[in-house]
Amino acid sequence: MTHYDIHSIRADFPILKTKVNGYPLVYLDNGATTQKPQSVINAITDYYTQINSNVHRGVHHLSQLATDAYEVTRRKLSEFINAAQDYEVILTNGTTHSINLVAHCYGKQFVKEGDEIIISAMEHHSNIVPWQMLCEEQGAKLRVVPINDEGELDMGAYQAMLNERVKLVSITYVSNTLGTLNPIKEITKLAHDHGIPVLVDGAQAIQHLHVDVQALDVDFFAFSGHKMYGPTGVGVLYGKEKWLDQMPPYQGGGDMIKEVRFEKTIYNELPFKFEAGTPNIEAGICLGAAVDYIKTIGLSQIALYETELLKYATKALSEIDQIRFIGTAKEKSSVISFLVNGAHPYDVGVILDKLGIAVRTGHHCTQPLMERFGIPGTVRASIAMYNTKEEIDLLVSAVKRAASMLL
Ligand SMILES: *Cc1c(COP(=O)(O)O)cnc(C)c1O
Repeated sequence: MTHYDIHSIRADFPILKTKVNGYPLVYLDNGATTQKPQSVINAITDYYTQINSNVHRGVHHLSQLATDAYEVTRRKLSEFINAAQDYEVILTNGTTHSINLVAHCYGKQFVKEGDEIIISAMEHHSNIVPWQMLCEEQGAKLRVVPINDEGELDMGAYQAMLNERVKLVSITYVSNTLGTLNPIKEITKLAHDHGIPVLVDGAQAIQHLHVDVQALDVDFFAFSGHKMYGPTGVGVLYGKEKWLDQMPPYQGGGDMIKEVRFEKTIYNELPFKFEAGTPNIEAGICLGAAVDYIKTIGLSQIALYETELLKYATKALSEIDQIRFIGTAKEKSSVISFLVNGAHPYDVGVILDKLGIAVRTGHHCTQPLMERFGIPGTVRASIAMYNTKEEIDLLVSAVKRAASMLL
């Protein structure tokens, strides 16, 4: 597609026709989860009506169809992020599961007393708490890269933190609260200069910009299916083979073994070593359908469109006197967080909801970040490929109305 046909894209998402309190739904909570195109919805029904069966087990016809479809998804995901090998793509339940897997398996193997893990001040709780748990367990120290008032990483402070005690850097690509787009390539290069591997939380990046894990040279990359137009309950942990090979398994059970004896179990090869038990098969297969959908629109087209929309929204909202933006980094993607007249974000959210506009309010699973800005939370509008300028106009007039009500 050369022309970005927003009308036909919107027509692919049936839920966008919803009316809320008599108003057309304006869905701007895409940072929490995205809506699903009909092709993804159909894939769920097709799976259950045509090939439902367990994977990696049976010799029978249906089991082979299910296994093939599941493995085709791995192939598609691997290609989507340009992994060197398909078996470097571990299918998980989502970003949270992926990060916990690394904290547990990499942590157990490589993090010892006195070691350090680096995260940043803008991390989602799921890229904070697993590291706190690991550090507590191992007697290691969690170090936090500070940010400036715009919501940009302090790269000087980051560089000063890198030393031989640091065993991992774990940083988000795009902040789900501020929209800040972090310089991952540079972050990774600096860490690698000290021999330190890097995990990237890609939950807010994978649906907005082209991700090439080899070009970025990251060691781990985590994301969720449900934020990229796919189903809940499935996600990805990409890991470089050299790390995955050295890490012990996460959970024990079926599928992750080659041979089980009471005396000793031999673990399966990658990726199955990290995939114990029956996976979320239908979600995995549907995630493949979501990748197909994104590819038919084209990620570079989506990125262009969304960048334009973000600019439009930022400008339009900035014309409201009572607005205060939280997160004004030079490099941003898809997220606008703000406060209105100093009112509690929840009160703004309720008024917007009455007018059919879905935004997220609160701390967005980034409480330490809210503390950094000295606020309880924000109103967050987060955009996806199907949002329009008309919807932004509706948001702006609703925020104006909220501003006049919440004096
Ligand atoms: C949503 C999100 C997560 C957690 O993803 P789950 O799908 O809930 O596991 C982690 N990091 C960021 C930046 C997110 O936006």
